[in-house]
Amino acid sequence: MVLIDGSEGEGGGQVLRSSLALSMLTGAPFTLANVRARREKPGLQRQHLTAVRAAAEVCSARVEGDAVGSRQVSFYPGPVRAGSYVFRVGTAGSATLVLQTVLPALLCADGPSELTLEGGTHNPMAPPFDFVDRVFLPWVNRMGPTVTATLARSGFYPAGGGRFTVSVAPSPRLAPLAVMTRGAVCERRVVARVAGLAWAIADREVKAADALLGWGEGCLRAESLPKDQGPGNVVLVEVGCEGARELFVATGERGVRAETVAERVAKEALDWLDADVPVGEHLADQLLLPMALAGAGRFVTVEPSQHTVTNARVIERFLPVSIGWEAKGARAWEVTVRAR
Ligand code: ATP
Repeated sequence: MVLIDGSEGEGGGQVLRSSLALSMLTGAPFTLANVRARREKPGLQRQHLTAVRAAAEVCSARVEGDAVGSRQVSFYPGPVRAGSYVFRVGTAGSATLVLQTVLPALLCADGPSELTLEGGTHNPMAPPFDFVDRVFLPWVNRMGPTVTATLARSGFYPAGGGRFTVSVAPSPRLAPLAVMTRGAVCERRVVARVAGLAWAIADREVKAADALLGWGEGCLRAESLPKDQGPGNVVLVEVGCEGARELFVATGERGVRAETVAERVAKEALDWLDADVPVGEHLADQLLLPMALAGAGRFVTVEPSQHTVTNARVIERFLPVSIGWEAKGARAWEVTVRAR
């Protein structure tokens, strides 16, 4: 039994999601105390509960403490079963974070899986669907499996109602990966999407983003989604390079000017370009688990966030790896996952 104190480090939902994924993969049961102790609303929220139940369904686990608000969860996994699954968050909570929980076990399962996930697809503080599809999964696919994701409907806070499907063709072993340099920039795009809101908002956003980025008209797209997918607004800034791809996001909020939303995401993209590293802050914490499964991996990124550090410590509790980082210049850090 692995005992984890959820108040350590970053103290958020990542500790739970990574523990679930690793418990499914290793067969080791765990108890997580002080669930999300450092969050404003501690304990399991709807999105976390969906993740617990999704994980339990995939590996026939016995679970204690699976209720909204619960501060302690125990998880006793059984064998992982590939198959067809539907996971519904039931609120606008992030469905991509539910995928993050169950995907690692299915990458190494004994057969293909088809997943349908419902909930939020473009939430603040979670990977937007586009990031999963265009940045995270291509790296996973480089490691052996073939995973494809298709967006059926976008879901924004507070209405939710998003849906996407994911096909997983697993690989018995994941291959180690090294992501060390970015290479020249070959693709740049700013996409602003609105659903159930005036198209002019998206138009203002792409222009405001470009006032900082200076990429020109040809890189800008203002899109309108069907009204029933809203209300919602998201601005995505994507940069494709010879050796890496990143995608930055900001979600529109009531009371925040369209220009402010666009400037936030443009600044984030400029900051990553300035750091001259292949892997951005969020991809860094997401690559650790697949690399640990492969038993090795390396990448160059910005200074590891507390989120990344916490995730590394959880992974080391379940798998025989050590994860370290070393400064490599003004803004670059090399993260190494090694077998221990
Ligand atoms: P909570 O306790 O509310 O569940 P948390 O601490 O688990 O929150 P966050 O730190 O918000 O969650 O991050 C959740 C996950 O979402 C991480 O894997 C992080 O990399 C990812 N993420 C957050 N923002 C982005 C983003 N803009 N782009 C891509 N991934 C993101």
